[in-house]
Amino acid sequence: MKRLVLLGGGHAHVKVLADLAEQPLAGWEVHLVAPYRRQIYSGMLPGWVAGHYPIEACAIRLDALARRARVAFHGTAGRGLDLHCNTVQCADGSTLRFDALSIDTGPMPALQDLPGSAEHALPVRPIEQFIAAWPALVERIRRPCRRFDLVVLGAGASGVELAFAIQRRATTEGWSHLVITVLGSDALPLPGAPLATRRRAARLLARRGIAWKGDCRATRLEAGEMHVEGGPPLRFDVCIASTGAAAPAWTVASGLATDARGFIQVSRSLQSASHPNVFAAGDVASYADERPKSGVFAVRAGPVLAKNLRAFCAGQAMQPWTPQSHALYLISTGERHALATWGRWSWSGCWVWRWKDRIDRQFMRRFGTEADGSPRP
Ligand SMILES: Cc1cc2nc3c(=O)[nH]c(=O)nc-3n(C[C@H](O)[C@H](O)[C@H](O)COP(=O)(O)OP(=O)(O)OC[C@H]3O[C@@H](n4cnc5c(N)ncnc54)[C@H](O)[C@@H]3O)c2cc1C
Repeated sequence: MKRLVLLGGGHAHVKVLADLAEQPLAGWEVHLVAPYRRQIYSGMLPGWVAGHYPIEACAIRLDALARRARVAFHGTAGRGLDLHCNTVQCADGSTLRFDALSIDTGPMPALQDLPGSAEHALPVRPIEQFIAAWPALVERIRRPCRRFDLVVLGAGASGVELAFAIQRRATTEGWSHLVITVLGSDALPLPGAPLATRRRAARLLARRGIAWKGDCRATRLEAGEMHVEGGPPLRFDVCIASTGAAAPAWTVASGLATDARGFIQVSRSLQSASHPNVFAAGDVASYADERPKSGVFAVRAGPVLAKNLRAFCAGQAMQPWTPQSHALYLISTGERHALATWGRWSWSGCWVWRWKDRIDRQFMRRFGTEADGSPRP
């Protein structure tokens, strides 16, 4: 029997699994390789930090979804590919043969150019490791002290959302000694967002008592100290790093065609530019029509990937995909309040948070969370 291997349980692959649950792939066995039994939905992670959701509400049960789809689940990570033998090498020492492979493993934290970050920063990715580290961080913050400095390095959507979420938690828990600083290399937070949204985010940070340090580039981390370009070092008790997406080292080493940053180059059908039996989607992919690394495009790639994997396995023609040029971004700001942007447009308010909450919960219900356990078809 021919074999399709799904590497990674990212946003596009959960859609593929849901599709396979509805209609199995005739004549093919399907395997899923993913290091964790659940997939955390990053859009809701700040809501967990803020205390709006239990973690179970933010977690898709990958193993249950795989079972429904009659897909064999392997709880390990892919470590390398052999594209001559068509095999995936896994962290648990196993090797998995494939006839077709689909990769949706997400990005690595972009910290390779920041010496000291491995020892002295808490990266937000892998998200499961951040979640595991969070209770100990909360314990440290709770210990009596005059001042606790928490620096969020990176002012993209995830850094800004996390800063707001931690500040909200500080308010509800009475952590008045917690001083939060967000540091970004641009003058304003949220690079890429409309100017009005960026200004609004800066005003909101100030209003919530979060310090903003813009036009600032970190060059090196030491214990409790961040060195920055052209300025005095910044003291910190904890540095959370949310510095964007980098490609995993194994994508380049595998011999797959990649872009200059090491992300897997795919055509409009989501097939590797060099190996047509390999597909990729989500942040690990470099699309023919370049788009920002974001969950929105990983989710949007899902239905096309599901159709094209099915077509490839049946020897049928595939469908080209042009990702939409504008995406709706909903950025939570801690207090059941959020900012929204779409192209040049932007909005904010408590109603935007309720809108985001509804969209996020609807998305999760389609796949089945650890909280409700029962996926809705
Ligand atoms: C705090 C935070 C908030 C965010 N908010 C938003 C938002 O509001 N909107 C938005 O559009 N984007 C947001 N993002 C960005 C978004 O998280 C990513 O763009 C999105 O997760 C990419 O999806 P993906 O499917 O490529 O990968 P991921 O969601 O990262 O999924 C990858 C999966 O593959 C698994 N995996 C990893 N390595 C391996 C391996 N070697 N072998 C096998 N499996 C592997 C992982 O465990 C995981 O299950 C946010 C990010 C963060 C950190």
